[in-house]
Formats: sequence, structure tokens, C-alpha cells
Amino acid sequence: MISFENVIENESLKTSLITQVKSDKLHHAHLFVGKMGMGTLPMAMAFLKYIYCSDRKTNDSCGSCSNCVKIEKLSHIDIHFTMPSFKIDKLSGELMEDFRAIYSEKSGIFDSKDWMDHHGQYNATIRAKEISDILNNMSMTAHGNGYKTQVIWMVEEMGLESNKILKILEEPNSETIFILIAESMERLLPTIISRCNIHRMESISDTFIDNYVREHRSKASEDILVNAVRFANGDLIEAIRYIDDFDSEFSLEQALRKFMRGLTKFETRKFQNINFMLESCEDLAGQNKQLQVKFLEFMLYFVHQLMRYKTTRTCSASEVLMAVIQHYESIVELDQIEAWMKIVDNNIRAVYGNANMKISFVSLGIELGRILNRKEFEMISTKL
Ligand SMILES: [Zn+2]
Repeated sequence: MISFENVIENESLKTSLITQVKSDKLHHAHLFVGKMGMGTLPMAMAFLKYIYCSDRKTNDSCGSCSNCVKIEKLSHIDIHFTMPSFKIDKLSGELMEDFRAIYSEKSGIFDSKDWMDHHGQYNATIRAKEISDILNNMSMTAHGNGYKTQVIWMVEEMGLESNKILKILEEPNSETIFILIAESMERLLPTIISRCNIHRMESISDTFIDNYVREHRSKASEDILVNAVRFANGDLIEAIRYIDDFDSEFSLEQALRKFMRGLTKFETRKFQNINFMLESCEDLAGQNKQLQVKFLEFMLYFVHQLMRYKTTRTCSASEVLMAVIQHYESIVELDQIEAWMKIVDNNIRAVYGNANMKISFVSLGIELGRILNRKEFEMISTKL
């Protein structure tokens, strides 16, 4: 059951939400921000339950009144959900059954990759047509005697269309609540952000994630479990995916090794290994956006570990990655690491910007080759 008590950690946020509901000065637009693996959706739903509950307790909803029961099933008549959809003729309303199923199966902890995997389709977006449904719905009064609520899950997928809800966010009808849920504020319009009461989720503690993965992935090796916690960076979904990744055909670690192998001895062996990098780019270009971003994030993780090893002689990378780190550690200086992080960051933006990812990955490889072997690349550049 989803309630404040069952939402993972984030105690101070719970307290401030509870205080706001009790104060009778409830803001009408709320933005919950945090990776879905931190429990962002359950937190928003626990908040809604507390608002609607007809037998509210000091620090939580009752869980058994009819409002609580309906919200638990995501079937409260006055709470309307909008989420990314895959086809123009099958919007949120028709996806609700799927949404309820995944919500119940994963206790509210799932992200857009899970949502897309669930449908086997990867072009999820919040379409323009949804906006008119939202406006329509929010112009009507509640069926019950409480609030009318609009939840928008993964609101960053709304893009510029979100402009159209600005007016209603600014001048809402009385007794309406907007609950916007996003993984990050980067792709949200500043005008949307400024109209919301912002609730930031905090990373889940390593201790919690450690216990969780040991319980849910008990067969994974000790090394993988320990690394999963470190790699997850407070995100439960990432921890589980890291472990599952070792069983899947596409391994981030293997892809990174191959990519980096394509760049080794760039200067002395004259592109002898570059095919490894190109093959790795080919593999990556064939993956979905989420996995492409994950690869790039994994590269950032690798770079952080490399930096850590250089400065402290310790790092949390797995044995396999350790070999790569030890290879690069003597070659790469801190200013090169900084440039490396910048180009990876640019590539993450390119994935969201719908760039041709094969070209993007290859140019990352070449640019990285230049950074890691600056002298040699300068020579090539002047020849061109
Ligand atoms: Zn209740």
C-alpha cells in the first residue's frame, strides 16, 4: 500500500507535505522532482491520499476509507492521470489500465524505460491532444465534495506544449490541484516551474539500497551487489538495472570496454584499434534512448572512478573496470578528465535532442581520442 509510512526515506519532505495539508493553505500546483527510482511517484500519491482521506491520521492517511481505497487503485473519479503515450489514437485515458497494472506490480517505483518496455515501444511522449483533455477536465467540478486533481507523470515529456497549461496553473478554478511529476527540471519551462510548489526527492541511502538489492537480487555476486549500490547513486531502479544488466545481452561494462579499447594507443598504433570503437558505436546506435543515456552515464561514472583512483588510489569500480582504470590512470591528467566529462554531457543532450546517435557516438570517440592523446591529434588536425 502506498502511504507516507511506506514511501522510502525522504522524511523531511513528508513532514512538510503533511504540514501543508493540515495548514489549510494548500498550494494548487505541486511539482515533485526526483528520479523515479527515489520513489517520486509514490510520494506524490501518498500526498494525494493524505489530502483526500476522510479519516486522516496525524501523520498519514487511514488507508481504508473509500477515497484511500480508490486512490490506491488509481481509480478515484476526481483524479485524472496523464502520462506519455505511444500512438496518437491511444492516449492516457486508454493507457490507464496499463498504468494501474505497472503501478501495482512495481509499487509505484518505475520509470519511463519500464513504461516503454511494458509496451515494447520507445517513442513515448505527451501529445498535444492530451492538453485539451486536461483543460477540459479541469474546467469541470469534482464529482465528490473534494478537489479535482490532475496528475501529469513525466511532465518533461510534454515539451513546449506545456505552455498551454500555464494559464490554468496561474488562474486555477477553486478546488483544483495539479500534481506534476518529473525526473529533472532541466527540460521543464521556467514558467511552469515558477508556478509550482517544488518538492525535491532526495537520493535513497546506500544502506537502504544495499538491503533492497540483497533481498531482491540475492543470487547476484557480492562484487556486483556492492557495485550496484555505488553505481545507483541513490536510485533504486538504477541499482536493480545494474545487476540485471549483467545477465542481459547488452552489457554497459562490455560496451564501455570495447569503446575505450578502440581508443587505446591511438598515438602509437595509428587507429589500429579504432574498429572496436566503431563497432561499439554501431551497437549503441541500435539501442533505445534510455540505454544510450545509460551508457553515457556509465561513462561518467567510469570517469569519476578514474579521477578518484588518480587522487586517492581507491575506487569502487568492479574488477573488470579496474583494469581499464589502471590503464588510463597514468595517461590521463585532470584537465583531460574535465574535457572528457564535458563532451559526455553534450552527448547526453544530443540523445534527447534526437541527433543521429551513430554520428554522435563516433564523434564522441574521435573527440575523446583527441583529448586522451592530444599531441597526436594535433598533428592530424594540422594535416587536414
Ligand atoms: Zn483514508
